[in-house]
Amino acid sequence: MHTIEDILKIVQENNKKEGVVLDTKPIVKAWEFASVAHQNQKRLSGEEYITHPLETAYILAKMDIDTDTVIAGLLHDIPEETEFSIADIKEEFGSEIAQLVEGVTKIGKIKYRGVKRYAENLRKMFVAMSKDIRVIIVRFADRIHNLKTLKYHPHPEKRYRIALESLEIYAPIAGRLGMYKFKEQIEDLSFPYVYPDEYFWTIRKIKNQIQQRSKHLNKMRKNIKELLIKKNIKYIDIFGRNKHTYSTYKKLLRKDKDISKIHDLIALRIITATVNDCYSILGIIHNHWQVLNGRLKDYISQPKPNGYQSIHTTIFDESHVPIEIQIRTQKMDKTAEFGIAAHWRYKEDKKISIDKKNFQWIDDLIKWQKKIKDNENYLKSIKLNTDIFKSRIFVFTPKNDVIDLPENSTAIDFAYHIHTEIGNKCIGAKINDKMSKVDTELKNGDFVEILTDKNRKGPNPDWLNFVKTNTAKEKIKDALVHLNNDKISVFKDNIVKKFNSYIRHKK
Ligand code: MN
Repeated sequence: MHTIEDILKIVQENNKKEGVVLDTKPIVKAWEFASVAHQNQKRLSGEEYITHPLETAYILAKMDIDTDTVIAGLLHDIPEETEFSIADIKEEFGSEIAQLVEGVTKIGKIKYRGVKRYAENLRKMFVAMSKDIRVIIVRFADRIHNLKTLKYHPHPEKRYRIALESLEIYAPIAGRLGMYKFKEQIEDLSFPYVYPDEYFWTIRKIKNQIQQRSKHLNKMRKNIKELLIKKNIKYIDIFGRNKHTYSTYKKLLRKDKDISKIHDLIALRIITATVNDCYSILGIIHNHWQVLNGRLKDYISQPKPNGYQSIHTTIFDESHVPIEIQIRTQKMDKTAEFGIAAHWRYKEDKKISIDKKNFQWIDDLIKWQKKIKDNENYLKSIKLNTDIFKSRIFVFTPKNDVIDLPENSTAIDFAYHIHTEIGNKCIGAKINDKMSKVDTELKNGDFVEILTDKNRKGPNPDWLNFVKTNTAKEKIKDALVHLNNDKISVFKDNIVKKFNSYIRHKK
């Protein structure tokens, strides 16, 4: 249970780090307003209603986000749950906060209505949050507290529906925005309500393993610490981290349900101040311990599409137990947890560094939001907003993952986006369950399934005439070059064979 004083303390400390002395009066005012608006209301847990906006705002404050968002967290349920309106909020707190709260309210009205309308719901969600990405962040915080208190909900079907909606809609969006801390929390809180048997099965599987591995991890932590001190390499923090339950469950299914095949069940995370320190530490660790081959991943030089950066490697300790090590800077760590929101508070003065190809639409979004701030020209910005969403489409994999592609992308673009080999082996596509030609242009919300043939040698050069994405173009060209090289080497082999037999005959 958190109080307004807890929230003020965190917000003040966050600002102090940036050398800003914050005026906390608006936050206190929002708390007072919400307390009055919700007075005499109770949560299903029997607690005062104000505990819910307080917890929501607390989660937001912990993210080190701007004050307006924390205030919106305190006010978010007022229009729906009390006799006060958006107009009242506007009068008391101004139009920026009123718009934020309005956006949060609107997004809350989009309800999950089964798989059929899933894509449509998701699209609505994206469009709503495109007006101000902070509205979905407030909704995430709100949802997390609702999930934490879901056990008080008296109706099992409603508990199930809320948890399912969280797992199927909220978690993927959080992942898409790189907000892994939210994604993991939403998934782990929903998991037991949606798949109770699988949840308890997973918990049983990991319990002993985590206990055993923790011992090894703690020892390794101590050893690495000592080594880094000896070598005089600076680090900020070294700590162990458990893989969250839902992703462990999904990984178990992929790994023959064999827990010993999951190497990152617990991992050791090393936080540094600079990128150079990351590589120095990697070098020292690789010199000192035996490395599990094929597990080194350098997401610092090659970030994941959502901007995630870190180095991952797996080493064996003295008793030959594999331990995953993750090395990253403090800034990368924050980005990994909060994704796009990690940059929020600094948006005015510091350059936002999300410029990865696949994350372009979010970058555009931030620029667009900055524009509204700059000139308050709403009409223009609404047009800009629709343009951004016109230029990207959201389509779904058979596993319901959301993929965003440029407009007019084809099934082949989609195939290469999923995996190079899926592209190279593609022989057809099912779009919304109908067999379709591979040059069919995809539409927002399409469900796409790629049909492959493992005997297919490689891509058709004609595909280059219609694919839209550079990724697909490059991969097709690459594969064609390899195909030709193979042909040349087969040709060479034949010549050599002929030549050899010619020599033999001569003899
Ligand atoms: Mn709420």
